[in-house]
Amino acid sequence: MSDTENTYDIFVIGGGINGCGIARDAAGRGLSVALAEMNDLASATSSASTKLFHGGLRYLEFFEFRLVQEALQERETLLKAMPHISWPMRFVLPYHKDMRFDSETPTSKLLTLFMPWMKGRRPAWLIRLGLFLYDNLGGRKILPGTKTVDLVNGPEGAPLDDRFAKAYEYSDCWVQDSRLVVLNARDAEARGAKIMTRTKVTSARREGDIWVITTEDVNSEAKQEIRAKMIVNAGGPWVMDVIQGVAGINSSENVRLVRGSHIVTKRLYDHDKCYFFQGEDGRIIFSIPYEQDYTLIGTTDADHSSFEEKPACSDEERDYLLAFANNYFTQNLSTEDVVWTYSGVRPLYNDGASSATAATRDYVLRVNDEGGAPILNVFGGKITTYRRLAESALEKIGDYFPNLPEKWTAGVTLAGGDFDVAGVADLQAKIKSTYPFLSDQNAQRLLRTYGTEVFDIFGDAQNAEALGEDFGAGITTAELNWARDKEWVQTAEDFLWRRTKLGLRLTADQQGRISDFLKSTVTAA
Ligand SMILES: Cc1cc2nc3c(=O)[nH]c(=O)nc-3n(C[C@H](O)[C@H](O)[C@H](O)COP(=O)(O)OP(=O)(O)OC[C@H]3O[C@@H](n4cnc5c(N)ncnc54)[C@H](O)[C@@H]3O)c2cc1C
Repeated sequence: MSDTENTYDIFVIGGGINGCGIARDAAGRGLSVALAEMNDLASATSSASTKLFHGGLRYLEFFEFRLVQEALQERETLLKAMPHISWPMRFVLPYHKDMRFDSETPTSKLLTLFMPWMKGRRPAWLIRLGLFLYDNLGGRKILPGTKTVDLVNGPEGAPLDDRFAKAYEYSDCWVQDSRLVVLNARDAEARGAKIMTRTKVTSARREGDIWVITTEDVNSEAKQEIRAKMIVNAGGPWVMDVIQGVAGINSSENVRLVRGSHIVTKRLYDHDKCYFFQGEDGRIIFSIPYEQDYTLIGTTDADHSSFEEKPACSDEERDYLLAFANNYFTQNLSTEDVVWTYSGVRPLYNDGASSATAATRDYVLRVNDEGGAPILNVFGGKITTYRRLAESALEKIGDYFPNLPEKWTAGVTLAGGDFDVAGVADLQAKIKSTYPFLSDQNAQRLLRTYGTEVFDIFGDAQNAEALGEDFGAGITTAELNWARDKEWVQTAEDFLWRRTKLGLRLTADQQGRISDFLKSTVTAA
């Protein structure tokens, strides 16, 4: 299975987590793979998530047991494969008797039937039952289980309003979402896949058993024709545009676009735990320690009109999140506290649910081969389940490529993640002793960005000058060269808002210098 005669086995449209995860898995099984992303890797939904490897506690209320179990199982598999960009987190869930269900959930409907006097309230015993399931459905080994927290005397209660006296605390994991995408793309490339960014697929037509795909280089407008035996449509919010607009297929499938926005403030509290806040409208939001000095609050759920409309956090969503958080924190947050917002669109499979919150978060894979060569369309999915989604995709791909090797990605680390989950402090100490001129904060950032590859980026540098120009916030020429040469960075935005989040820390002038550096060296590269 090689790309002789310039025909790939698999052509993936979309460089989000699902496209890159499938490309990696397929390349590792010996298929010849090409992937086209019309913008930067992870430029759409996959850099706009809440960044959790989580089972999704709230999905239990929707009886999404299959999804929750798979996601819970995945947390530790993924954590071990990437202990640099992912880490365990504790979530504090303050309890108050006025917390209510979304009236749409099957659990709420059952409770209304059998315990009408609850009037939609979420009882403590039900939360405890949910957490019991959460602790036990996924076979935890590394992550600690649920415990009760005294908010009156413990540090977790300090930033919260006095009316919260008790909380439950449970585990999930953090992941640097856009880095996850890039590391999957790198692994795919290392296994032979061709990764093309700023490459838009403008049309795909069947010639019998072969797809003839036209791509356009977004920078140069140069067009190219590429042939492939099968297309994987991982276009995320554009999934229907790829089916109908690009491939010209009539389809009864549909996607439900649900926007979610986040706000970022300066760090709101001293401890390193997250909060899981329940609202009186049945929704939940998280408050998460973010990028060392910030707090991330989100998310919203709002139907989004079209893939053509770039998602942005509306004033209404920002105010909703501020009011939600203010209901819990003693500190009264206002619009002035918001230093950044971001927004993304969930490309959910349209299961006809009445509200955006209730639409299924599970993934659906559909193959169409009615007109000849097959196309696999990907709907929905979570960051957390991307690896399992890729395995399911490969099962379907296997119908067209008999005798594919078995699944292989569980237990195979991503670049820079070749150390033990418990070895983070040792690695931090090694980075500091090798490069004593790095600040503690920067050493920690670099560890959480590149893991053991920090040593490849900085080599045998003996002092800060050896890393080249200092662009601010610890960014040096050495790091930018690496990002450009190994991680497909072309613009300042790619580096400052996706490979890292250092855009939070740099002035406009500093950002301009990075932009100039990349403009002059990307074209020369
Ligand atoms: C607010 C929010 C919070 C979330 N939080 C979590 C969370 O905490 N944990 C979790 O597990 N999941 C979370 N998710 C879900 C998760 O982020 C998404 O399911 C996932 O990122 C979808 O990835 P994708 O690859 O399908 O889509 P995308 O990341 O959108 O990738 C699709 C790509 O296809 C490209 N493309 C489209 N058309 C073309 C074309 N014609 N040619 C070339 N390229 C094309 C686009 O440019 C895009 O980059 C969240 C989602 C949202 C919106």
